[in-house]
Amino acid sequence: MPHRIQVTSVLNKTRKRDSWFLDDYTINMYSGCSFNCLFCYIRGSKYGENMTAALSIKENAIDILHKQLAARAKKKQYGFIVVSSATEPYLHFEQEELLTQKALEVILHHRFPVHIITRSDLVARDFDLLAEIDNKAILPADLALTLQRGTIITFSFSTTDDTIAHVFEPGATLPSKRLQTLNATVQRGFLSGVSLMPLLPYISDTAAHLDEMFGSFKTAGAKYVLPATLTLFGSAPADSKQLVLRAIDKHYPHLSAKYRQFFGTSNEMPGYYRQAFHTKATALCKQYGISNQIIPPDAAT
Ligand code: SF4
Repeated sequence: MPHRIQVTSVLNKTRKRDSWFLDDYTINMYSGCSFNCLFCYIRGSKYGENMTAALSIKENAIDILHKQLAARAKKKQYGFIVVSSATEPYLHFEQEELLTQKALEVILHHRFPVHIITRSDLVARDFDLLAEIDNKAILPADLALTLQRGTIITFSFSTTDDTIAHVFEPGATLPSKRLQTLNATVQRGFLSGVSLMPLLPYISDTAAHLDEMFGSFKTAGAKYVLPATLTLFGSAPADSKQLVLRAIDKHYPHLSAKYRQFFGTSNEMPGYYRQAFHTKATALCKQYGISNQIIPPDAAT
């Protein structure tokens, strides 16, 4: 069972809005994540190998959020709230706890725009609420002309292959189901796309796999794809680097030497790989007619 904790703050103001995620603020209603993705950057000794056991529910988060957003709204400090930056907003406990749903009600009340980032199909439960936010949110002045949307919904993928995902994202909604939910999200009229991260070297970054994924995203109606390569940290058993290397040894032993060559002394793939990947991803976005940013560069013209 998850722990119940009290917090003194739940709304984090970012120092600078990231041009990819448009995060003026972030909130995390849970601490830890039961989806247990092996590559997750929040991993480490704080949560252990199975993050479900260390999951915490921020019991008083709704009251705190209400107060913090009221103070920001009073000063007209509107900005996109990313839900979530360090956990999954629709993890399994959300079905009973409803913390994310209640947070969205508070966000709607104070008329802040929201950016949902998820690996779950449960977001569909909140479509009505998210549609209201989409219509009623007050955008920050510098985005009002270029965006004109109060809700953004991004689905994260490291692969679209259910078998591969079962190894690396064991608790997340299967990619096949996630793609259906992406399509339902687009059909409902939301601005929605894909955070394609992290791509798994030699597994989900091959030309054939990338081509198949971009085809699936296009078919599902994704308006943008934000691609990024794999970054791994740590030398302790519960750290992402060790967990991914152990999974490679077990499920992809032919790649063990390669992964150790690249991640043995580094946290990321070499510069030439990242440059080639960037070029390839840009070309694929162009080929499939999908933007590589939520706000396309020509949106203001
Ligand atoms: S869903 Fe997100 S926060 Fe949860 S384990 Fe996976 S990458 Fe980490």
